[in-house]
Amino acid sequence: MAELQGKVALVTGGSRGIGRAIVSALSEADADVAFCYRQNADAAAAVCAEIREETGKNVFSIAADITNPEDRKRLVDEVRERLGAVDVLVNNAGTTDDGLAVRMTDAWERLLDLDLTAPFRLSQLVIPLMLKHSWGRIINIGSIASRVGLPGQVNYSAAKAGLEGMTRSLAQEYGKRGITVNTVNPGFIETDLTEAVDDFVRRYVTEHSSIGRYVTPEAIASTVRFLASNAAWALTGQTINVDGGLVKL
Ligand code: NDP
Repeated sequence: MAELQGKVALVTGGSRGIGRAIVSALSEADADVAFCYRQNADAAAAVCAEIREETGKNVFSIAADITNPEDRKRLVDEVRERLGAVDVLVNNAGTTDDGLAVRMTDAWERLLDLDLTAPFRLSQLVIPLMLKHSWGRIINIGSIASRVGLPGQVNYSAAKAGLEGMTRSLAQEYGKRGITVNTVNPGFIETDLTEAVDDFVRRYVTEHSSIGRYVTPEAIASTVRFLASNAAWALTGQTINVDGGLVKL
């Protein structure tokens, strides 16, 4: 029996990149998976079809902008109505919106809305559902930018560091009720988000990481799969860097 049989997972931003790999890994573990995306309906439909083909599991997607409170509520309601629960929430959707600190105007609020406030508000919506079963997993996708301050990423570093604080606090509040909360910090991964990164950064990553190469979306997804399982019952309030040894703290 696969480890997530009978569990329902909701993944934000599952239509591409790391989120897509997480949807696939949780489906392989036999969870019933729903994911949201913001705008690319064709990509989302293709992911559903591919995963059905790969795993035989029925995955479904919902268009929802998770920075919008009504969309967040509709998303959680729809998953609960169609699948009966939300046992695992993976707060994956996120972006960067770089700029020098002194010139940053609304990119600060925009970024924090998506990368920090939306994960918190979604957690608030699903925790009552998890409490009903005395079992739940909240897994936040952070970034090593929370620990390594990069110029131009003051908003991103702050949001991702905030996720780690939120993780520790939520873990304390709900640990005795069977809910674990953890953050996974990817290092540098080739996705649409990092397409524009220059050669200097790419060289830096391969030269300075312990493994000498990029981490893959699948490596993040297999860590998420483990954290979602019963085997990870004692792991909570933690942040795990899955970065090939780039951060050496
Ligand atoms: P991508 O840009 O490749 O994919 C982003 C996904 O999020 C898409 O499915 C997108 O949907 C969805 N999304 C974006 N905005 C919203 C929104 N407002 N509401 C709902 N869905 C939304 O990102 P990655 O896979 O690279 O990154 C995933 C996570 O990993 C992020 O939190 C990121 O910060 C983190 N991370 C990534 C790293 C990397 O190297 N790639 C490194 C460290 C952390 P649509 O396509 O419809 O817009």
